Amino acid sequence: MSDQRDSGQTPQSFETLAIHAGQTADPATGAVVPPIYQVSTYKQDGVGGLRGGYEYSRSANPTRTALEQNLAALEGGRNAFAFASGMAAEDCLLRTLLVPGDHVVIPNDAYGGTFRLFARVAERWGVEWSVADTSDPAAVRAALRDRTKAVWVETPSNPLLGISDITALAQLAHGAGARLVVDNTFASPYLQQPLALGADVVVHSTTKYMGGHSDVVGGALVLDEAELAAEVAFHQNAMGAVAGPFDSWLVMRGTKTLAVRMERHSANASRVAEMLQAHPEVAQVYYPGLPSHPGHETAAKQMRAFGGMVSFRVAGGEEAAVRVCERARLFTLGESLGGVESLIEHPARMTHASAAGSALEVPADLVRLSVGIESVEDLLADLRQALSQ
Ligand SMILES: *Cc1c(COP(=O)(O)O)cnc(C)c1O
Repeated sequence: MSDQRDSGQTPQSFETLAIHAGQTADPATGAVVPPIYQVSTYKQDGVGGLRGGYEYSRSANPTRTALEQNLAALEGGRNAFAFASGMAAEDCLLRTLLVPGDHVVIPNDAYGGTFRLFARVAERWGVEWSVADTSDPAAVRAALRDRTKAVWVETPSNPLLGISDITALAQLAHGAGARLVVDNTFASPYLQQPLALGADVVVHSTTKYMGGHSDVVGGALVLDEAELAAEVAFHQNAMGAVAGPFDSWLVMRGTKTLAVRMERHSANASRVAEMLQAHPEVAQVYYPGLPSHPGHETAAKQMRAFGGMVSFRVAGGEEAAVRVCERARLFTLGESLGGVESLIEHPARMTHASAAGSALEVPADLVRLSVGIESVEDLLADLRQALSQ
């Protein structure tokens, strides 16, 4: 856990914080990058005489602390916590915020794993949930109950790139005595900072854009409230799904280039979305940067650019969509997203297979792209050949 804002430093721009927040030179050696403290326990100077507060690496580890300070700075939050995965972060938050009988509103196109966590795990522990179209504040209002403790939002959402108005939902949630939780994985803090827009907790799968190189699985929570932070810190340590030192170091290596990567992801994705929109084999394109997207204005208001994720429906139907995924060469067929390399997948049979038959079922003719930072001309050529059947 870290408290970045109380450090007395003057505010710096995102790009500078990405490279320097939490990255002070190692006091022992002057190493410019925080070392990987691959260690479980720490020598005490007399009983209880901890150096820098480090006692045991589940509770705190210097490499993880450096990452947590970096993440707090990037989200403009006071407290950050790094976990072994995005799902571990979500699970920790859920168990910190909720007791049996409490209720959560979740989005109707949530990440498949988030839906599964509520529907198959939390429900067994007596947590109630209902699904709402979070891009429509009236639908969220209608879903609120007396014991609603959280409104959970992903914006842009997965895989339909729906946009929810963070400011409006924060007001709505707070009016009902609930917290607004924003999964900021798709946008990353470079494009969107939910805490500044009124959200209470930001959730990340750092596996995606924060890590950015498809070489680490991790998660994070960022929040302001001191009391809630103490509760999260307690639960993180009590349950133990922390980010290890090497994984923390990899995510930190990723965040340093987040700004330049997100610029290129967004620029490439815009070009891809425009090409797809004009393609005869494509029935519909979902990209918040397109003026035709229903959430375009809200996205333009709360995001710096529109991100690297694009989904589209193939005119030929489900089998044609599967064929597009299998014919792509430069776009690698695979789950996940947010890495420098482009990925393509079929949500109904891959990432969102567990949502089949539920309110979160996705169209069978849908293809999802994670547009990487390769040459956009090469990416466009690959998609054109994959679509030419
Ligand atoms: C991947 C993802 C998660 C889960 O994170 P893991 O690191 O895979 O556990 C949660 N939310 C979104 C939006 C994701 O894309």
